[in-house]
Amino acid sequence: MIIAIDGYSSSGKSTFAKAIARRLNYLYIDSGAMYRAVTLFCLREGIIAGEKIDLKKINQSLDKIRIEFIYNKPQNLYETYLNREKVEEKIRSITVSEHVSFISKIKRVREKMVDAQRGLGQNKNIVMDGRDIGTVVFPEADKKIFLTADVDVRAQRRYKELLEKGLKVSFEEVKKNIVERDFIDENRKESPLKKADDAIVLDNSNMTPDEQLEWFMNLYNSINKNDH
Ligand code: C5P
Repeated sequence: MIIAIDGYSSSGKSTFAKAIARRLNYLYIDSGAMYRAVTLFCLREGIIAGEKIDLKKINQSLDKIRIEFIYNKPQNLYETYLNREKVEEKIRSITVSEHVSFISKIKRVREKMVDAQRGLGQNKNIVMDGRDIGTVVFPEADKKIFLTADVDVRAQRRYKELLEKGLKVSFEEVKKNIVERDFIDENRKESPLKKADDAIVLDNSNMTPDEQLEWFMNLYNSINKNDH
């Protein structure tokens, strides 16, 4: 079974997806982490310099990028590795966030990531979150949810999360990044962020993570009942 969770930046997709995966004992895959890892690679290799992206170099370098999710047993979670280096924290920096939507617009980057995502999901019970999971990666997914929330609520959540990690950022900077990413993600040519026709929308502005899981489990149980 495949559960696809798409939605706006910082709408709580990963918290929601992780909770579902834990409850159903499914594998959770964070597709955004893969675009973030490619972005970190590009920043390090000078493929991104200021506002400029060297498209030729990125297309030539794609074969040198190996992204893996490796299980951390004590913490019971999967962590992102870029060419054998753990980058789970580094890919969440504001610098990566500021550039990732420009990298994820690139056709060849998307093709490579989508292939890898389909491979990871083959013959498994998975929950995958992202922007195009229900529309492009797994259009045949068994359940599709599209998450959204008020932009100030999303910015406040992300701001709190970054402060807790000890990062020095302002609320305005965080909100600006979210608005900008949503705009680029929704308006790009290649598989833009959009609700799949058969996805169910959940606005979680006023919901706790537990309430969201309960909402999902009700949906899951009712659909499963109707299937039999
Ligand atoms: O999910 P997260 O916010 O970490 O994703 C970072 C960025 O990666 C998004 O803003 C988007 O540009 C890109 N992305 C994408 N398609 C996905 C997942 C993420 O284009 N399936």
